[in-house]
Amino acid sequence: MTHKIIRINTALPSQPKVRVMIIYTGGTFGMTYDAQGVLLPFDFSHILEHLPTLKSLFLEITVIAFDHPIDSSNIQPEHWVKIGGIIKDHIDTQDGFVVLHGTDTMAYTASALSFMIRGLHKPVVFTGAQLPISDPRSDARENLITALEIASAKAGGKAIVPEVCIYFDYELIRGCRSKKAETMHFDAFRSENYPVLATAGVKIDYDLKAIRQPDPGPFKLVTHFDERVAILRIFPGMSREVVSAITDQMGLQALILETFGSGNAPTSEWFIDLIRKAVERGVLVLNISQCPGGMVIQGKYETSRAFNEIGVISGVDMTIEAAVTKLMLLIGEYGTGKAKELIGHPLAGEMTV
Ligand code: ASP
Repeated sequence: MTHKIIRINTALPSQPKVRVMIIYTGGTFGMTYDAQGVLLPFDFSHILEHLPTLKSLFLEITVIAFDHPIDSSNIQPEHWVKIGGIIKDHIDTQDGFVVLHGTDTMAYTASALSFMIRGLHKPVVFTGAQLPISDPRSDARENLITALEIASAKAGGKAIVPEVCIYFDYELIRGCRSKKAETMHFDAFRSENYPVLATAGVKIDYDLKAIRQPDPGPFKLVTHFDERVAILRIFPGMSREVVSAITDQMGLQALILETFGSGNAPTSEWFIDLIRKAVERGVLVLNISQCPGGMVIQGKYETSRAFNEIGVISGVDMTIEAAVTKLMLLIGEYGTGKAKELIGHPLAGEMTV
């Protein structure tokens, strides 16, 4: 996977002191319509034509652009490793990072990066757009300009937001708490279980109590993902054949059950039996609610009591995006046995304890 480096020299006479890197991966932000009216990603140099104001910001901006920008529906763990690697290579020379990414899987990538990077002391702000920058009504300009401001914001010489986050439609939210929840309106993302970190109006209001302070210790990047995980969304009428096709999958390391309400599921004997057998074979089974807000409380209802008895682990209030990326990384890093001990502990503020 190759990339190119573009330096944006400010047109202002004096040299800026703050350096921000933009990592351009693709997404609607920089897309254009082909002859059939289908949206395809384009080169970052075209974006500059639509946003000459980047040259008048009092920032030293370096852009690292994927040679082949992608629709984020094609994102894979190898892209997360690439983004993490770029951040690692430039962490000492940049004050902050803005990652331009498609909205479809931005919550997955922001979650993955939150868990991959340890000891982060600088902002990593994801953003994108619902309408391409070439569109007169595009949300791309505001999203990027404010994301750059947040990525460069400091107080007392330190970054105000030293965490992985998403800025979109006037709100800054924690990356590993985010979820894409809207395809037609500009407010694409929600953080149902954690407060907004900042709101942009005439000025940017930071909620300093909600912003995570950096973990002690040096910057470290963890990059080994184990992709042998599955998600089973429970629904009334699901058949034993469909469930067993997933639970009995050879080599499966982790299974996320997307359950009803506060972690509930059918109590049918065949269903509980299939889950029990998976747990006995060593599969890590995690309970995440289908509800975007609230949390799993196993044993609150009779319909979740068996989960406590057979060793299903509560995912509390994690999003599905955080749960699946955290599982892949913990299993890749430590193996499934240790991941069972660690999955219930927050790594980057992704769950309430
Ligand atoms: N399909 C696009 C993507 O995720 C949607 C977007 O960017 O908003 O790359």
